[in-house]
Amino acid sequence: MKANINWKSIKTVLLDMDGTLLDLNFDNYFWQEYLPIHWGSLNNIDALSAKKQLRYWYAKEVGTLSWYSLDFWTERLNFDVLELKSDVQHLIKYRPHAETFLQRLNESDFFVVMVTNAHEDLIKMKIEKTNIDIFFDRIISAHTIGHAKEEEPFWKKLQLEVPFNCDETLLIDDNLMVLRAARKYGIRNLLTIEKPDSLRPEQETAEFDAIYSFQDIIF
Ligand SMILES: [Mg+2]
Repeated sequence: MKANINWKSIKTVLLDMDGTLLDLNFDNYFWQEYLPIHWGSLNNIDALSAKKQLRYWYAKEVGTLSWYSLDFWTERLNFDVLELKSDVQHLIKYRPHAETFLQRLNESDFFVVMVTNAHEDLIKMKIEKTNIDIFFDRIISAHTIGHAKEEEPFWKKLQLEVPFNCDETLLIDDNLMVLRAARKYGIRNLLTIEKPDSLRPEQETAEFDAIYSFQDIIF
């Protein structure tokens, strides 16, 4: 579906970070390849079995705060997950035209808020690599709110933290479960991302309008 945004009706722009503004390749590579292999070698488990075990554990936590919590995985796997993440931080980069888009938003009158399920320490690592914080009025982590974005209470609590009018708000997020929760809450303008990971095929964007790059909606 092609995206069509009426910018004149928008006051608040809520933007996800990973897979939306930044390439999801960093996170996918880390969780699907790098971490299982590292964990396997620490525990004398071959790469294939390690990946299978990790996939099983991930599937149990999908859509919850635990899935996005470095503390949870650090405790479960018994090594410092954040430290391991820093090994592959060269893979942290912007998605196509994301920086230009953020620059334009920043120069306009929109209230621009990052809403991310990422852990605060990981946000810090990504800021160090990209300076992405300079474009935002506020940066909100689901870990501060106490609910993942996939859960409806997240949106109620977010609105107390950052007042916004649902009709005048645009949310861009690559995660369809998140968009469904936001739609249920009443957020009017929703967009998703066709290709969150530069090295993987496009995702099935289902009932949501999707953009390929931010050039599609630059104003
Ligand atoms: Mg995302």
